[in-house]
Amino acid sequence: MAEYLASIYGTEKDKVNCSFYFKIGACRHGDRCSRKHVKPTFSQTILCSNIYQNPAHDTNCNMSEEQIQAHFDDFYEDFFTELCKYGEVEEMHVCDNVGDHLIGNVYARFRYEEDAQKAVDNLNQRFYAGRPIYAELSPVTDFREACCRQNENAECTRGGFCNFMHLKEVSRYLKKELFAAQRNFLREQRRVKREKSEIN
Ligand SMILES: [Zn+2]
Ligand SMILES: [Zn+2]
Repeated sequence: MAEYLASIYGTEKDKVNCSFYFKIGACRHGDRCSRKHVKPTFSQTILCSNIYQNPAHDTNCNMSEEQIQAHFDDFYEDFFTELCKYGEVEEMHVCDNVGDHLIGNVYARFRYEEDAQKAVDNLNQRFYAGRPIYAELSPVTDFREACCRQNENAECTRGGFCNFMHLKEVSRYLKKELFAAQRNFLREQRRVKREKSEIN
């Protein structure tokens, strides 16, 4: 029985635990969900809810595609740089969904769980664009599982209201640049540490 329960944990067959919360870290029923949202006590992944405000969602938006992408790239760089203060970031993703529980959500996976915890503790005392940040540890481990497969083939009929992640893509050159900058920074940090320990 225990084995069976372990095998269905967090899947649609699991009648106790919410599969949406387990896979995506957010479910449209929120705290009123009839199934359990088991919040992790340790995780490499954090969720900052409703952070990115996409100007394209504003009905009066008259920005071009390029301007909207540039707006998003600026945000991505800004937030990524903020997260790097707490530790090595392996992935950062932003939802393009429009449902209340997913809109503007930023997910980041840190290399170390302790850094994820540090990020959550600090971010919850911070503001972004004039609004308080709400951050929490998230159960999401595999973003491929969390993402909508149909959307990857541009076939999702639910559009922005889909309950699986539709990710907003950052410009490829920028992503490369940011992760390379992080790698260089970490290398430099290790070098300084090493030199210090050689002196002592
Ligand atoms: Zn739920
Ligand atoms: Zn979808």
